[in-house]
Formats: sequence, structure tokens, C-alpha cells
Amino acid sequence: MNAEIKELIDELFEKHILSKEGFRKLIDQRDEEAAEYLFEKARLVQKQVFGNTVYIRGIVEFSSYCKSNCLYCGIRRDNLKAQRYRLSEEDILACCRQGHDFGFRTFVLQSGEDLFYTDEMLCHLIRSIKKEMPDSAVTLSIGEKTREQYQMYYDAGADRYLLRHETASPALYAKLHPADQTLVNRMRCLQDLKEIGYQVGAGMMIQPPGQKTEDLVADLYYLKDLQPDMIGIGPFIPHHDTPFRNEPAGSSELSLYMIGILRLMFPKALLPATTALGTIDQKGREKGILAGANVIMPNLSPKAVRGKYLLYNNKICTGEDASLCSACISNRMRSIGYETVISRGDAPGKMPHF
Ligand code: SAM
Repeated sequence: MNAEIKELIDELFEKHILSKEGFRKLIDQRDEEAAEYLFEKARLVQKQVFGNTVYIRGIVEFSSYCKSNCLYCGIRRDNLKAQRYRLSEEDILACCRQGHDFGFRTFVLQSGEDLFYTDEMLCHLIRSIKKEMPDSAVTLSIGEKTREQYQMYYDAGADRYLLRHETASPALYAKLHPADQTLVNRMRCLQDLKEIGYQVGAGMMIQPPGQKTEDLVADLYYLKDLQPDMIGIGPFIPHHDTPFRNEPAGSSELSLYMIGILRLMFPKALLPATTALGTIDQKGREKGILAGANVIMPNLSPKAVRGKYLLYNNKICTGEDASLCSACISNRMRSIGYETVISRGDAPGKMPHF
């Protein structure tokens, strides 16, 4: 590691921000030693804020239908080979109930952009979960909606919303999406969600086709402005039935390095070690925690549909039972000296919204 990189890591540790040029150097001139030093500092911050605790969020992938056409995504509208399914409210409730029995206190309801579920149905679902499991947080991850819709779901009891910004660079956003999906609208959604009062999660893929260091720096500066409660990042992984089928996957090495940077920038943020990271590297989730992440999101979807929510090739945890998934995660965390806890796992300083 050259002396300048060490200084940059020290500066980030102290000030939580670098100049754009500083970030560019920190990323471009990284080596193994720099990464180790960054992760050491990131763990210091992580331990100070969260101890050796890892928060668990159970994710229910309730529909694989999608009206959007993101070029990277396996459930994009134009993938006619994708297997489509929808879960009923009763199915979704059963998944949450099972998760609650395992000790999960946050349920992430994720889907493609599926117009089958009306606002009325979604609000009814949110109310049912909150009524039956009032000690649990409900997180939605159902894509771009109007402000009025977001307000409705919030009023029904939804606590959090995950919507990755995907990339803060307009030119790259346009390469990854069709013309009718705009970065302006994505950012409008995130702004609305924040203003309404949701705990908000944003984030980007690492190394989708065409991403340059300056795009990652733009992401860091966008996140600095947005100040989300959660930041989900993970490597791009190609899917065989998308236009990006022949593109190389993002590296776990850079994904981990970016987690380390984010932990130093945002000491209190919730940073998941994502399924995509666990897919390109068998120990990716453990390494993610050791790089500064503090959240894992095991799959609670029914076994029968798991293999159908295929965003990318070789997605892990598509065959196991939810109970095995939950035990596996706890064991993996224990193996590196961390404990999963029964908690809503709100971002520090955030009041629960009941
Ligand atoms: N429809 C909602 C949305 O757009 O936010 C939620 C579902 S969407 C499939 C969830 C996330 O999956 C996206 O934000 C994207 O970053 C990620 N994703 C999709 N395809 C991917 C791929 N090929 N590799 C890695 N991540 C991918």
C-alpha cells in the first residue's frame, strides 16, 4: 500500500468524506494491503456502533412478474423464458409467520413491478402483517411508484423502503435501462420516500457493464447527499436470458472494498452483505461482514418458487428450506465471531413507526 492510500483511509476514517479525486485514488490504487487496512478500520467503526451483532431481515420474493425492462435483470419484462409466479396474501403471511418463529423481526417484501397487486391489496397485506406481528418492521421493495402510493403504504404501516438508485451517473443509467426508465424518476422516488418518513435503502451494483471509477465516485457523493439508512451494494452478475448475458460479473474484491469505504463514510448505516456477494464468492457474506457490513437477508420465500426469482445466474439459497437458511446464516455468522439477534434492527437513532 502506498503512503498516500493509507493517508486517504485515515482521512476517511476521521472525516467520513474525501474529495472526488481522493475517492478516485482510493479505488484505483487499491491493493491487498490497502483493503486489509480499510477493513480493519471499518470493523473498528462497525464494532463501536453495532458490537458483534448482525441484523437479520427475512426476504419474501412475492412476485416475479415485472413491467420494467432493466437490461441486467433476469425477471425483466422481455425475458419470455423467465418463470413467473405470484404469492397470495395468505402465502406471504405464512412466510412472515415462519420467519417470526425463527426470530426475524423485519420482513422485506420484494417483487418485480407487478401491477396485479393494487394499492388496496398492498395496504391490506401491510396491515395484516402489522396486526399479527406488531413487534416487526415491514420493508417494501416493489419499485417505482407515485408519491401518493408511497404515502398510502406508509399510512398502512410500512416502515422502510428499499430502492437501489442503481447508479448515480445519468449516462450509465441510460446504458443499463430502456429510455422510459429514468434516473430522474428513480431519484424522485427516493426523495419522496425520505420526505414521507420511511427509513430508506438505496445502493448500486458493482461493475455492471460500462461502470467506471468516476461512476462509483458519483454514487458515493449521491449517497452522501441522500443520507439513506441502508445501502445495499453487490456485484453485477450476468443472467443468461438478458442482453448482458456475455458480460463479465463484477468482482467480490471491489464489492468488499466498496463496503469498507461505505462503512467509514456512514458509520451508522445498515449495510447488507448481499446474496449477490454470496453468489460470486462462497464466503462472500462472511467477508462482507468482515469488511464492515452488518445485515444479512435470508430468503423466506416458499421453496416451490425460490428458483423462479432468478435475477442472475447461479443465485444461491434457491433450494433450501427457510429454516435451514436461517440456521445456516446464524452458523456462518458465529463462525466469524458475530451473533444474529432477534431485533427489528432499526438504524441507530431511528424511532420505530408503529
Ligand atoms: N423491482 C424492485 C426494484 O426495482 O427496486 C425490486 C426488485 S429488483 C429485482 C432488486 C435489485 O436486484 C435491483 O435493485 C438490482 O440492483 C438487483 N439486480 C437485478 N439484476 C441483477 C443482476 N443481474 N446482478 C446483480 N443484481 C441485480
